[in-house]
Amino acid sequence: MNPPQSPKAGRVRAKPRLAEVVRVDRLTPHMLRVVFAGEELEGFTTRGPAEHLKVNFPRPGESKLVLPEWGPEGPILLEGQQRPLNRTYTPRRWDLEAGELTVDFLIHGEGPGSTWAQQAQPEQVVAVSHQPGGAYKVDAEADWYVIGGDEAALPAVGTLLEALPPSCFAHVFVEVADPTEELKLESPARFQVTWLHHGGAVGRVGRRLEQAVREFLFPEGNGRVWIGCEAGAMRDIRRHLLNERGMDRARAHTQGYWKYGAVNHPDNDRGQDVG
Ligand SMILES: Cc1cc2nc3c(=O)[nH]c(=O)nc-3n(C[C@H](O)[C@H](O)[C@H](O)COP(=O)(O)OP(=O)(O)OC[C@H]3O[C@@H](n4cnc5c(N)ncnc54)[C@H](O)[C@@H]3O)c2cc1C
Repeated sequence: MNPPQSPKAGRVRAKPRLAEVVRVDRLTPHMLRVVFAGEELEGFTTRGPAEHLKVNFPRPGESKLVLPEWGPEGPILLEGQQRPLNRTYTPRRWDLEAGELTVDFLIHGEGPGSTWAQQAQPEQVVAVSHQPGGAYKVDAEADWYVIGGDEAALPAVGTLLEALPPSCFAHVFVEVADPTEELKLESPARFQVTWLHHGGAVGRVGRRLEQAVREFLFPEGNGRVWIGCEAGAMRDIRRHLLNERGMDRARAHTQGYWKYGAVNHPDNDRGQDVG
């Protein structure tokens, strides 16, 4: 028998927390809001906007989530045992008082995350990362922000807007399928949203966002850009920002939220290969 496998040495991976579905609300035809609660969420914290966590789902054909044994370095997999099936999502809201964690799931078609969300019902159990990671540090001194996202990044865009200071003006570009997918956004900052529509065009999601960023006349002053979208479109936007506009990379945060033809795109794709 093979010895149990564990993940990369030295990396501490606390056991995911079991979380039970308490409510499911349809925000738009393709966006489902799932609210989770449960005693294992005690101690869960958020550190800033646009964080991410892993949601671990039951495997297709299994009605219940089965997590492997967990050690200090992560899952301890016995021979033949599979890694937990998980995907990356944004903690849209953590209500400490109510002990409720909200995640907005885009129903995009194939994929265990989208498929699970489509059938989600109260009392079902998933497991979420012990703590979310990757919070974006808002520049409290920024005069303006350009925030751009597609529908998978719309939950993150919502958290970013809510975290901006009132002194800032945000120019927001969000690409969704059509007007029925638009959501109400709120912020202490002044902001203007331009909704863009891809109309379900296969292979083209993110391209209207790219065009809008290219055409936007950036204001004077201390500004920052945050972009979250499909990895190919993100790279072209990053190229445009750094190479054509000559933007300082420290002011331009770009992130691939998913990728055409790839399952489980990594949660740390910032387009570093572009520059
Ligand atoms: C930091 C971060 C935060 C995220 N937050 C959220 C969130 O809050 N809500 C959310 O819904 N998603 C979010 N995502 C995106 C989500 O992780 C991906 O869409 C993921 O691929 C979904 O898993 P899946 O099992 O549905 O599809 P997968 O099994 O990963 O992929 C199956 C197929 O679907 C395609 N696909 C994946 N995503 C999309 C899409 N958006 N549109 C069209 N085709 C797609 C893939 O190219 C692949 O061909 C986030 C991603 C990152 C990196």
